Amino acid sequence: LNPVYSARPQSIFPTMSRLAREQNAINLGQGFPDEDGPKEILEIAAKAIIDGPNQYAPVEGLPELCAAVARDNKRFYGLDIDPDREVQVTSGATEALAAAFQGYLEPGDEAVLLAPFYECYAPQIEAAGGRVKFVDLVPPAWRLEAAALEAAITAKTKLIVINTPHNPLGKVMSRVELEIVADAARRHDLIVICDEVYEHLVFDGQPHIPLMSLPGMKERSIRIGSAGKTFSLTGFRIGYVTGPAPLITGLMKAHQHLSYTSPGPLQKAVAAGLAMDDDYYERFVRDMQAKRDLLAEGLKAAGFDVLPCEGTYFLTVDIRSVGRDDDAAFCREITEKAKVAAVPISAFYHPSQSGAPQNYARFCFCKRPEILQEASARLARYF
Ligand code: PMP
Ligand code: GLN
Repeated sequence: LNPVYSARPQSIFPTMSRLAREQNAINLGQGFPDEDGPKEILEIAAKAIIDGPNQYAPVEGLPELCAAVARDNKRFYGLDIDPDREVQVTSGATEALAAAFQGYLEPGDEAVLLAPFYECYAPQIEAAGGRVKFVDLVPPAWRLEAAALEAAITAKTKLIVINTPHNPLGKVMSRVELEIVADAARRHDLIVICDEVYEHLVFDGQPHIPLMSLPGMKERSIRIGSAGKTFSLTGFRIGYVTGPAPLITGLMKAHQHLSYTSPGPLQKAVAAGLAMDDDYYERFVRDMQAKRDLLAEGLKAAGFDVLPCEGTYFLTVDIRSVGRDDDAAFCREITEKAKVAAVPISAFYHPSQSGAPQNYARFCFCKRPEILQEASARLARYF
C-alpha cells in the first residue's frame, strides 16, 4: 500500500459523519447543506437524464457548461475567459485539485500550503510526487505574513495553493494578502492554485476577489469552483476550473486519466444554474449569513468563544472557553454526550506539523434554523 494514503487515517469528514449517525447526533461536522439547491436545476437534471444522451460527455466538459463558466467569470469578476481553451469541467473541486497536482508537479517539486488547509491538498500533492511546505497562519487573526511565505519558497517550489473564502477558518483573504501571494508568484515564477469553491459565500457585503484578477496573475493561476457549494448540490460532483490554456491543458491531461468526464445531464443542469439571476445569488448569501449569525449566537450562549467568520459554511470556536484543550477528544465528546458533531481543526494540518493548535473546533452552519437552534440548545445544556 502507498503510505501517502495508508499511513493516514480515514478522512475526518466521513469519520465524524459516521460517528454522528451512530450517536444519533446533529451533524455539524462534515460540510453539506441539509436542503438541496434550486428545484429548477433538479428538474433540468431529471429531464436531461430521461431525454439523454447519457453517454460520455466531451473530455473538457459540455460546451454549454464551459460557456456558462466563462460567462460567469465575466459577470462576477470581469474576467475574460475563452470557453473553448480556458475552462475544464471536473468531478467536483476535489478532482480538479488532484488533476492540477498530477498535471503540474514533477517528483521532488515543492508545493506551499497555508496551514490550516483543506484536508485533501497534502495527500494529493504527495501522491503526485510533490513535497509539501507550510506557512502557518497564526491565530486568532490567521493573517498571511509576506516574510513567512517567502521563507517557505525554495528553488524547488512549483506552486502555491490558496483557499479563499477559507475552509475551515471562514477567513476571506484581504487584497493585501492576495498581493503578497501574487508578488511572490511573479518573482519566483510560480503557479497559484486558487480554491474558490465558496466564492459566492462572502458575508457582510464584502466582495470576493479572485487572485486571477490581479495584474499578471491570469497567466499563472487557476481558479476552481464547485456546483456543490454554489448550488447546494454537493452530491452532483461537478467542479469547474478556469485558467490560461497551457495550465488548463496540463490539468486536462491528468483529468482524462482520472475520471475522464463528469455526468453530462448534471453538467447541463449546472450550466442552467450558472445562468440564474442575481436574486438567487443574493438570497443564497443572505440566507447563509443569517445561519452564521444564528449559530454564532447559539454557540456564544452555550459558553464558546466564537472566532470571526467572513465566509463559507463554517464557524470556529476556541474550546478552551469551555475548559477543553484537545480538539479531537472534544469533537468525540460532544458527538457522544451532547449529541452534536463538529470537526477538529487539527485535522487540517499535516501529520508532521507537531506544533499544530489543538484548541479549535469547526461547526458547520448550512443547516435549517431549527437544527442550528436545537444544536445550540444541546450544547448549552451540556456545558
Ligand atoms: N475545497 C474546499 C475548500 C472545500 O471545502 C471542498 C469541499 N467542501 C472542496 C474543495 C471539494 O469540493 P467538491 O465537493 O466540489 O469536490
Ligand atoms: N468539504 C466538506 C467539509 O469541509 C466535506 C467534503 C468531504 O466530505 N469530502 O466538511
